[in-house]
Amino acid sequence: MSAKKIIVVGSTNMDMVVKTSHIPVPGETVLGGSFFMNPGGKGANQAVAVARLGGEVSFISKVGNDIFGKQSSQLFEEEGISTRYLLADAGEPSGVALITVDAHGENSIVVASGANANLLPKDLEAALNEIAGAGILLMQLEIPMETVHFAAKYAASLGIKVILNPAPMNTLTPELLQHVHIITPNSKEAEMLSGIPVNSIADARKAATLIAGMGVKNVVITMGAQGALILEDGRFEEVPARPVEAVDTTAAGDVFNGALAVALSEGKTLAEAVQFACQAAAISVTRLGAQSSIPHRNELIVSNL
Ligand code: ADP
Repeated sequence: MSAKKIIVVGSTNMDMVVKTSHIPVPGETVLGGSFFMNPGGKGANQAVAVARLGGEVSFISKVGNDIFGKQSSQLFEEEGISTRYLLADAGEPSGVALITVDAHGENSIVVASGANANLLPKDLEAALNEIAGAGILLMQLEIPMETVHFAAKYAASLGIKVILNPAPMNTLTPELLQHVHIITPNSKEAEMLSGIPVNSIADARKAATLIAGMGVKNVVITMGAQGALILEDGRFEEVPARPVEAVDTTAAGDVFNGALAVALSEGKTLAEAVQFACQAAAISVTRLGAQSSIPHRNELIVSNL
């Protein structure tokens, strides 16, 4: 069976990072060290993960009519991501994240959503045929909630599986959750959703039960180095993380979600897809950066996935 297409609807940002001795307090100016720019945004990271892991992906996103938007578009094309629905907003600049990292690796981040905040349901109307031809719709929460809701409802009405990565956490209505096939919070997001602390797999079981009670069919809670917990149709399954030497866990969740979508699009079961996602995410935590750390499919062949 050939794999079904994956649509990612989400954010594109340019991360602008400066290293400093310390993070400035209000009113303080600090002379920083090296400056670098990294393409980011959860939507973009997940679309890149899908492409590198062998999925066919269309990315629906909005950038500004500016240099960062053009750079992002070029980068997506190089990754083999269809940019037909990468829209350029006339009024708002591309989303940026201003990141300061101190000598201890602590960071402070300010995100200016820019054009991402203007990705509205009307922008999806031109892409409805594209969505209708897909097998999976993958979304996060760095775009307006009305857009997430609109896309989820449309996709679910056609039997397309909606994967929602609720990051960063926002209010999730029962109307939205009923359209979600799989929700993929990390432990912090699971905590916010369920209202109980989530530190162990036992806690994750309790949280997953509460989240499923909100009307989502399947819950997958990612637990960092503890792996992931699945609650599928009332049955639990634990998938351990692959033991690795973690150097930078940035974007581990994005790799996990992209990989999950790819495996499901190939007809794997949810448990098999979560195993594949844990393998891919484990590789990413052994490398620095966000998109730079996302593995290619051939790196997972060793494990026969
Ligand atoms: P997020 O990046 O969204 O905070 P997690 O920290 O839960 O999400 O990580 C997502 C997935 O990445 C985990 O389910 C796990 O498979 C993998 N992962 C994260 N940290 C590690 C680690 N230290 N060792 C191995 N795998 C990891």
